[in-house]
Amino acid sequence: MEKIISLAKQRGFIFPGSEIYGGLQNAWDFGPLGTELKNNIKAAWWKRFVSRRGDMVGLEAALLMNTKVWEASGHVSNFSDPLVECEKCHHRFRADHIVEKYLKDNPDTIHEAVSADLVKLSRDIESFHINCSDCGGKLMSPQQFNLMLKTSLGATADKTSDVYFRPETAQGMFVNFKNIIDSTRKKLPFGIAQIGKAFRNEITPGNYIFRTREFEQMEIEYFISLPKKDADWERVFEEWRKEMHEWMSYLGIKPDEVHELDVPKEDLAHYSKKTIDFEYDFPFGRKELYGLAYRTDFDLRNHGEKSGANLKYKDNETGEEYYPHVIEPTFGVERSVLAAMCSAYTEETVGNSDEEESETRIVMKFPSWLAPVKVAVLPLSKKDELSSVARKLADDLRTEFTTDYDETQSIGKRYRRQDEIGTPYCVTVDFDSLNDNAVTVRDRDTMKQERIAISDLKKYLSEKLAE
Ligand SMILES: [Zn+2]
Repeated sequence: MEKIISLAKQRGFIFPGSEIYGGLQNAWDFGPLGTELKNNIKAAWWKRFVSRRGDMVGLEAALLMNTKVWEASGHVSNFSDPLVECEKCHHRFRADHIVEKYLKDNPDTIHEAVSADLVKLSRDIESFHINCSDCGGKLMSPQQFNLMLKTSLGATADKTSDVYFRPETAQGMFVNFKNIIDSTRKKLPFGIAQIGKAFRNEITPGNYIFRTREFEQMEIEYFISLPKKDADWERVFEEWRKEMHEWMSYLGIKPDEVHELDVPKEDLAHYSKKTIDFEYDFPFGRKELYGLAYRTDFDLRNHGEKSGANLKYKDNETGEEYYPHVIEPTFGVERSVLAAMCSAYTEETVGNSDEEESETRIVMKFPSWLAPVKVAVLPLSKKDELSSVARKLADDLRTEFTTDYDETQSIGKRYRRQDEIGTPYCVTVDFDSLNDNAVTVRDRDTMKQERIAISDLKKYLSEKLAE
């Protein structure tokens, strides 16, 4: 993990947030290459799940919503984690996490699965004599801590009102259900997709960009007609399960790096009847990457009943009116970036010739569509006669591909640098180019080089990058 974090900083993928002021706990900024990577992921996701499908529409709802939304959705009363605070240093911990850690460190302890139940957690902390891991102080009794991030609206102190930043993008899609039906005349089944930020006041964020308080989601609410039997929703659930696996492999994730976890009944979120977590083998352990949930009609029914708006769907053929049911595939953007980077990170031993010692080559083997830079133009020397040709070539390529231009240091070092950012093709302009109007194209993965006429270069790269 340390290797990826250091490469990401050095090469401009991800920087610690507010770094020159000492940072802000667990906030991260995406650098030039990280931004490209993120944009590529979001654009590909949108194309695949929205633009190319006739049964999907997009939405961009506001980050701040009426508090009544979160009361109806259950977030005000239910969206919390159990928290304990140290009496002495006032450091806060997730109560369930410290009990889990104790059980892991003391494997002989006989114990049932750790639950979020406050009474049970309190009993465990007391009977296991668990103290503050920072100062050894006594821990207070656990309390539920709401994870929604609060802010206030309004200019004057007496007229402000507390509002929450959305903890998920989903509710924006439910509260706009009627607007979307009325304006698009979509028939079931159809889905609403949204990409946007969400905020959670996590007690213990961590593991790099895996758990942060501010994050971006790519989410779909897929509405289906009233299931007459379980098989009706199970069929759609299964379709989305497959879609999600295909997306993961498109992202460059190998099938054996992903594991499905059928979330046990007692751990299901308050709205869900079935949830699958897609877990990925991150360097820090097997953790949730994406989720797929059957939310029943919980959300539309709640919002319909609590707002008084008619959120039922009317089937014009049968005249039936009902709340549609919902299958929800959720994809985290930052987790997609992190999994794609972990899967792409490769170390290879290469020896250029018998005399040279073998060295380690670090390559980010991103799929071409995902690579933040597609082509790098590298003149063999900084001499004007070469760099003028190379610069012109780079400008021309830039009209079609994200193109990097680099003339500093040795050609070997420049290749290594492009390998580390995952650039699929390097184009070298040498002195022969001035006579034969051709360049050398080097493939990132095979390191094989090919001589290509400058006039054919765009076509050649387009075909290669589309493979
Ligand atoms: Zn303490």
